[in-house]
Formats: sequence, C-alpha cells, structure tokens
Amino acid sequence: MAEQLAFNKPKVELHVHLDGAIRVETIMDVAKRRRITLPAATVDEMRDVCSLKEPATLTEFLSKFDHYVPVVAGDREAIKRIAYEFVEDKAKQGVIYVEVRYSPHLLANTDVEPIPWQQKQGDLTPDEVVNLVNRGLSAGEKAFKTKARSILCCMRHMPDWSSDVIELCKKYRDDGVVGIDLAGDELMDTESYPGHRRAYEEAVRSGIHRTVHAGEVGPASVVWEAVEILRAERIGHGYHVTEDQALYKRLLDQNMHFEMCPLSSRQTGACDPDFTKHPLIRFQVDKANYSLNTDDPLVLNSNLNLDYEVAQKYMGFTEDEFKRVNVNAAKSCFLPEGEKRELLRQLCEAYGMVGDASP
Ligand SMILES: [Zn+2]
Repeated sequence: MAEQLAFNKPKVELHVHLDGAIRVETIMDVAKRRRITLPAATVDEMRDVCSLKEPATLTEFLSKFDHYVPVVAGDREAIKRIAYEFVEDKAKQGVIYVEVRYSPHLLANTDVEPIPWQQKQGDLTPDEVVNLVNRGLSAGEKAFKTKARSILCCMRHMPDWSSDVIELCKKYRDDGVVGIDLAGDELMDTESYPGHRRAYEEAVRSGIHRTVHAGEVGPASVVWEAVEILRAERIGHGYHVTEDQALYKRLLDQNMHFEMCPLSSRQTGACDPDFTKHPLIRFQVDKANYSLNTDDPLVLNSNLNLDYEVAQKYMGFTEDEFKRVNVNAAKSCFLPEGEKRELLRQLCEAYGMVGDASP
C-alpha cells in the first residue's frame, strides 16, 4: 500500500479475536490438507464468504465464523500456525504489543460439551489448545519482535465452560495467558447464567485480569453488570454506556478502560453507520481511557491501520490523540507491572515523549 498511514508509529492492541484474525490463504491451505470442502474455490471468493460488506446485525456477523472456524478447529498444526501468523500480521501493522483472545473450547474436539462445529470426537482438549496457541504466539514473538499475550474467553451461551476457562487462565498465567473475557450474546445476563459469575469471582480471588464484552450492541445495564458483578477492569466496546449518564460519568472518574473497535462497531450494527456520529467522538472529547482495536479483521476484511484511518478521517483524531490512546492502552494492558513499564518506556521513546511513563 502506497498511501500514507494515519499513524505510522508503534501501537498497542488489546481487543482482537484469534479466530477472527485468520489469513484466508491459511484457511484454504488447511482445508486442502484436511480434505474439507469449502464454499469457495479461490482466495478472493473465500474472502467474500468470510467477510461482511455492509453493516449487518451481530448475529449475521457471528454467522461468518461458521464458514471457516471448523476448518482449523481440532487441528494441532493449524492452531499453532494461526497463532504464529497472527503475530506476523500484527508486526506488519506496527503493533509492538498485542493481547489476543479466543475460546479454547471452540477450537477443541474433546473434553468439551457439546463438541463445537459438529466435529467428530477427537483428542484435542481445550487445555492443549491453549498450549498450542501459546507455542505459536511465542514462536511468532521471537521471529517478529512483537510481544503477544492471550486472553481466554468464556462464551455467554456456554456457562458450563467458564469454570474450565478460569482454571486454564490460572494454569497458564506464567505461560502467556494474561486475562479472562466474556463474549457472545449480551442479552444472556449473568444472573440467569451464574457459571460466568463464579468464574469471575475466582478470577478476582486469584488475581487474574478481567475484561468483558459489554455495551456493544447491548444496553448500558450490561456494562453496569460487567463492572459491578463481574468486577471487570476493562470493557470490550462499551459504546452504549453513554446512554446511562451517571454510570458513564462514574466510569470516567474511575478511569475505566474501553476497548474500542471502530470498523467492527459499524459492521455489527452496534453503532450508527455514520462515523461522524460515533460515540468514540464523545469519548475523545471527554478524554476517556480507551484503545483502538480491530476486533475481527478477517470478518471485517480490515486491519488496524484502517481503524486508525477512520478515526482520523471521520472522528477528528490527531497524532497527539493517537499517542494518548496507545499510552492508555499500554497503561491498561494486563502485563505484569515491570513489563508494562518497559512497554510504556518503548512507546514514550518512539513518540518523543518524556515523563509520563508511570503505569
Ligand atoms: Zn470482540
């Protein structure tokens, strides 16, 4: 690409799904090896199948995963490979630190009930999935010099998986896993599905960092629940929190971090498709603590630079705001304090900033 990048400096990304960031070429490759029939014959056709062209609903958005996640699920080589290639892709986009999230259960084919994607029972457990992703990420980190850590996702419609998820977070906390997340249909509240609440209580007890998808398409009350019941330290998206002014104001005062995904919010129908009316503009004016992220670049046919471009073109973001956003992302990341300080130092040096390197 010859065009000018909106922010051609080191970046930090905190909200991106591993299974939403697979290369189309890799899906084609793995399908061929595993003799899986795809609904498309070429990379371009397959890209069309996997991605959304127009703003849709979150349900339509999520249905895209059905076309390609089964190709890599249950396959050791493919899982390690997508983690490794993910780091390479992020390095190319100027990301120096990334937290990538996924549900280990959705890539497994045994020790998971029900077995996802109508796979036949195999011998790949959620535990081994985490191990494979860790191996892929750490090989990628060595090769491409982008630091990569992971967040394990609970799924709202699968509360029985959540106790495994928190146990895996604890088991692998010194091997690349830095936090827990809750993803999926926000209408499934944690009152009715207590498995998630219990997992988050255990996360608090054992010092595992917590983020929650909330207020993306759901109302501000889901953000309230994430903060009050699940004790989230960061909110995934959170656009609709502004509908509850008192809560919004309180979270601003608490310096709550919001993981914002501009292109994603348009394609999922979470926000007005007119970017000049995006809630992110309000967050910017209020000097809120937030980051800019891709969410699911495969499904959105996007990359991080496009999210920055949209922020610059339609939301009035300046170079200084991009710097502030990334410093905030580094301060709000789930790395241990020493590594966080080092990340902040790297950013401040690259941005020509002095002083503000305290986490
Ligand atoms: Zn997400």
